[in-house]
Amino acid sequence: MEFDTIAAISTPSGEGAIAIVRLSGPEAVTIADKLFRAPAGKRLADQKSHTIHYGNLTDPQTDEVAEEVMISIMKAPKTFTREDVIEINCHGGLVSVNRVLTLVLRAGARLAEPGEFTKRAFLNGRIDLSQAEAVMDLIRAKTDRAMNVALNQMDGRLSKLIGQLRQALLETLAQVEVNIDYPEYDDVEEMTVPVMLEKSEWVRSEIDRLLSTSQQGKILREGLSTVIVGKPNVGKSSLLNSLVQENKAIVTEIAGTTRDIIEEYVNVRGVPLRLVDTAGIRETEDIVERIGVERSRKVLKEADLILYVLSHADELTSEDEKMMEAVAGMNYIVVVNKTDLPQGIDMERIQEFAGKSRLVTTSLIEEEGVDQLEQAIADLFFEGSVEANDMTYVSNARHISLLHQAHSTISDAITAAEAGVPVDMIQIDVVRTWELLGEIIGDTVQESLINQLFSQFCLGK
Ligand code: GDP
Ligand code: ZN
Repeated sequence: MEFDTIAAISTPSGEGAIAIVRLSGPEAVTIADKLFRAPAGKRLADQKSHTIHYGNLTDPQTDEVAEEVMISIMKAPKTFTREDVIEINCHGGLVSVNRVLTLVLRAGARLAEPGEFTKRAFLNGRIDLSQAEAVMDLIRAKTDRAMNVALNQMDGRLSKLIGQLRQALLETLAQVEVNIDYPEYDDVEEMTVPVMLEKSEWVRSEIDRLLSTSQQGKILREGLSTVIVGKPNVGKSSLLNSLVQENKAIVTEIAGTTRDIIEEYVNVRGVPLRLVDTAGIRETEDIVERIGVERSRKVLKEADLILYVLSHADELTSEDEKMMEAVAGMNYIVVVNKTDLPQGIDMERIQEFAGKSRLVTTSLIEEEGVDQLEQAIADLFFEGSVEANDMTYVSNARHISLLHQAHSTISDAITAAEAGVPVDMIQIDVVRTWELLGEIIGDTVQESLINQLFSQFCLGK
């Protein structure tokens, strides 16, 4: 396949001291040479692949120096797109990168559509669709661990597993064909159906396994929705602040149209927390007091994790009992704060409620106990994940939906096989499952889907 040469700014706008304008396509080197002036008149076309060169970009119309740049040259096919790739590193300001991009476009490149670099990598057979989508997730990944999930997927882990499932299905289908070709064997059904059933059940259990990781994948990308609750003055704001201060806040943003919700993203030992608070909670308020027990129950229900803060100095009240009732059965950690003050709380009651693993004592004013809390959060999150480090996570909504569909068609096949339905009927469901799994890795997708997918990418990727 032959394409034109595309270009785009491939670093986020306004960020960082260096910005990159990337070109990909058969004319990439020629276009760069039209603009590049290096000491001793060296030309990029004569340079080795995967080398970097210092010089100036000049405007060919005026012959004036426009930018001081470093240019990397990467020749096909060992590049991300499998085409010739040029990366022009220039100063990070918006004005500089735009000037460089304009020059490059005037010299013959076309502005890339969103996701077009990755699309080319896909079309040139460099990556498959699930890997291409992983690139997109990578761009959005908020913590290192989420990054690993995306990286594993890019490695082709998911693709490989899906490939194995499809292979198993294909083998059973082939076997059916063979048996159907020799109808003189009157025990075709007897020979074929048990094999189909067995393989189908295996495929379904693998799909189940993948789907069971998908919730975690979602959390890794979006953050564990975490609500801090407790009576006024127990130390909720102090807790929020120390979690934000001790851990690099990943993003701070005001979400929602009304600005009612404040969200702080923090990375706690690899667990991305999205600390959700209703407005004002940082200053004074107590969520229960402010919005009432009923609504706070709703907020609690939607949370992935609850940090329930109590004061070591205060006796438990009926309100606390109500809160414990609301929290029970959810993912929660009890934080008994203010251990520097004389004890008023009934610790036995709290221990009974929390169990050992969900109870942490802190003195936020003396900066004590936050480490233990962080460990408890990490333990709680990872205790469910058996093979946390090398599990194939599925974190992409399209993949999840296709896996659900494949799960349902393979279940149909299993039900049919068990009910003694003729083999060619079962075959239809098996073929459909094979197709659905293929869509995850881009084997059976139509052009329109490809275009739609790649248009979701950020520009320049
Ligand atoms: P919130 O109303 O639950 O958000 O509680 P705040 O975080 O606003 O804290 C209420 C008061 O308790 C503030 O004056 C804090 O300085 C104080 N405080 C917080 N943590 C501790 C602690 O561990 N020990 C003591 N003695 N005071 C604390
Ligand atoms: Zn507060």
